[in-house]
Amino acid sequence: MTEGVDSDGARPATAKADRRQFMRRATALLGAVGLVGERGLAQAADGARTGPVARIATEEAFVTPEITAATLAYMAGDGARDEPALAVARTVTAPAVRNAWNRRLTDFGALRLEEMDAAGIAMQILLLSSPGVQIFAADQAAELARHANDTAARLCRAYPSRFAALAAIAPQSPSAAADELTRSVGELGCRGAMINSHTKGEYLDDPKFWPIFEAAQALDVPIYLHPREPSPAMAGPFISPRATGSIWGYAAETGLHALRLILGGVFDNFPRLQIILGHGGEALPFFADRIDTRYAVELAPGGARSLKFQPSHYLRENFIVTTSGMNWKQPVELCLAVMGPERVMFAADWPFEDASEAVRTFDAIGLGETLARRVYEDNARRVFRLQA
Ligand code: MN
Repeated sequence: MTEGVDSDGARPATAKADRRQFMRRATALLGAVGLVGERGLAQAADGARTGPVARIATEEAFVTPEITAATLAYMAGDGARDEPALAVARTVTAPAVRNAWNRRLTDFGALRLEEMDAAGIAMQILLLSSPGVQIFAADQAAELARHANDTAARLCRAYPSRFAALAAIAPQSPSAAADELTRSVGELGCRGAMINSHTKGEYLDDPKFWPIFEAAQALDVPIYLHPREPSPAMAGPFISPRATGSIWGYAAETGLHALRLILGGVFDNFPRLQIILGHGGEALPFFADRIDTRYAVELAPGGARSLKFQPSHYLRENFIVTTSGMNWKQPVELCLAVMGPERVMFAADWPFEDASEAVRTFDAIGLGETLARRVYEDNARRVFRLQA
């Protein structure tokens, strides 16, 4: 039987009790966000701020020309062999679409601001586009990350009310990555780190990477675990349907990575660490109850795992999810119900998604002013410590 305890106290939990508790809490949250029950929104409106909502888009991409050139060179050489899923993903989009993306990814001013204004986006949180520096050798990756962070920081300094950035780091060398995170937060004003899932087939639950978590927890900044294509060991079956990219491979890879962090005990070691997942939490909120019940049956009884809490506890205490690419009613409502209204943030995923369309479809959900403000603005201001 699991040694897990519920999040409200130290009572030993059984699978059945865990499940009942999960359902009670999810139902209570549904009520709190106004999805069920009549009092939900009226209650939430108490003490609400007024005035226009500042939409903060939290997963917005850029790339430096240096990284684009290095990626082309790598994929023309070793990358074709070592990154089979990435090689496929780079062929599935029409060249005209890819060119339109590239023009926007490398724009550090006019076009970016113009499309933000057209969409009604007040602020972008900048992330180095996937796969970033994680395909390169350690030294090259560290240098490219440092340059990318300096580049993003210049844009943030030029337009402090429009941009903030998360630092790109190169996990290939964990202690150097921790140092770059510390430099980026302390000297450049970055609001956290971003990592594009696996690094050369390795996952962050391996304790050799934990200096990165130690630094993030000490600095009290979040890490955005952004998708990339499945690792080489998992790529095979994704290749013939050409499903290695955002159509499914991203969620399969990154959802697994996040689950590995939970099952690997990362949050028992770093209880204050906060991980941000895009794309509605890469399916984990949808699976949360099943993960709990099967954890109790398949992992906990044999002593294979000895987490302090059941898996959904960590999902709700150590993760925040964003709506990138998922700005439609059902997944947004599910995320609000499972994660709670404090742990969902809006993202457009520009330029891969049309930001105006993301805003239009998010608004069409009709969450009501108070809840929409939380997801658009308040949660991002708290998580990234942005001045109102
Ligand atoms: Mn993205």
